[in-house]
Amino acid sequence: MSYSELIDELTNMAIKKLDPEERESRKQITQNKSLKTSTSAVEQQYKQNSRYIPSVIKRAVWQRDKGRCVFKESENHSPCGSKLQLEYHHEIPSANGGQSNLENIKLNCKRHNVHQTNFK
Ligand SMILES: [Zn+2]
Repeated sequence: MSYSELIDELTNMAIKKLDPEERESRKQITQNKSLKTSTSAVEQQYKQNSRYIPSVIKRAVWQRDKGRCVFKESENHSPCGSKLQLEYHHEIPSANGGQSNLENIKLNCKRHNVHQTNFK
């Protein structure tokens, strides 16, 4: 590499470093990083809030209950089976220490979720 080539190379590097667009994209990467950090901070907060149901639990509940309301009027009745307006229902309310886990979360249609909230 000749001396002038070296100068060219260094100039190119300097331009790249000082180039506003280049700086802008670098700034965005930094911003994206901090955005990620704040998202996980929010997630942390949600996890401390027991009403929050992790998506992995939601998916497992949905698969187990086959995307249908599992509410039974009584033990002798067959489950409601509605696929409309399904909600994730805490069997033991989170206010009473119910956990957001597979055992405690059931799929209920809106009607039965409201029903249970009102009558328990
Ligand atoms: Zn139902």
